[in-house]
Amino acid sequence: LTVNDATAADKPAKLLPDAQTVTAVKHWNDKLFSFRVTRPASLRFRSGEFVMIGLLGDNGKPLLRAYSIASPNWDDELEFYSIKVQDGPLTSKLQHIQPGDEIILRPKPVGTLVLDALLPGKRLWFLATGTGIAPFASLMRDPETYERYEQVVMMHTCRNADELNYGRELVENLKNDPLLGEIYGEEFASRLLYYPTTTRENSPLMGRITDNMTSGKVFEDLNLPPMSVENDRAMICGSLAFNVDVKAVLEGFGLEEGANSDPKQFVVEKAFVGDGV
Ligand code: FAD
Repeated sequence: LTVNDATAADKPAKLLPDAQTVTAVKHWNDKLFSFRVTRPASLRFRSGEFVMIGLLGDNGKPLLRAYSIASPNWDDELEFYSIKVQDGPLTSKLQHIQPGDEIILRPKPVGTLVLDALLPGKRLWFLATGTGIAPFASLMRDPETYERYEQVVMMHTCRNADELNYGRELVENLKNDPLLGEIYGEEFASRLLYYPTTTRENSPLMGRITDNMTSGKVFEDLNLPPMSVENDRAMICGSLAFNVDVKAVLEGFGLEEGANSDPKQFVVEKAFVGDGV
């Protein structure tokens, strides 16, 4: 082997179409992990959008799934937050990726959870279960969110407490973020409100997002007025059943569903296809 051959062997040529290199992986528990990959130089996206990512399947064809980009649009890399479905075609394999590995990333971002799909307002609510927090992990880290809204409320619900850790760590890091701190100072703590709850395991805050809204508990706990058409905007991301239930609650407050082409008071996106939890 010449030196060149050795280098070539260490670094295989990019064989995957639309290949990006994994730069970091963190396992949060046996069902959840997050990872970062290189960002294609030409990829522009709006915080909150999703892309198709995946690996080569056993048949040699790309096996792709929709994934929300969890990093904000100013970041040099792309971050994703993923479920591990033990018999899932993609995630049974994806959960084993290591830094240096390659994944496929189709650079065509799309999605409804974008700031442009909402009318201006005072307060923006992010309502998520499970990995549905991923698009909000992007939007919470985008300064434009705080330019458009005085207050952001992140409600995240999972069955067990350890499923909240990715979001909790992200919010804690944001509160110490030098850029946001420089812009908003001490005031930033009151601009991003975090309301994590569990439905199964005991934790300081409990209950479903729908129940905590209809009972008024979340408004009391955060010292906020009930939702109104004038002031409140929302984005929903969870299982199909969750999305349907939350949508009904928001409509009960008089809010209407909007879209990119027709901005209104709230927007909805599936966190996955299937019944889920
Ligand atoms: P699949 O065959 O795709 O799924 C098997 C079953 O697992 C499904 O029927 C469903 O019941 C359950 N399931 C799938 N995904 C989830 C999930 N995220 N949480 C709970 N149960 C699930 N997944 C992510 O992990 N992170 C994301 O950011 C993300 N963003 C998405 C955005 C959109 C718009 C959509 C439609 C889906 C998104 N998904 C996300 C789901 C993702 O596309 C895949 O379904 C997931 O990666 C599992 O792939 P799989 O091939 O292993 O199993």
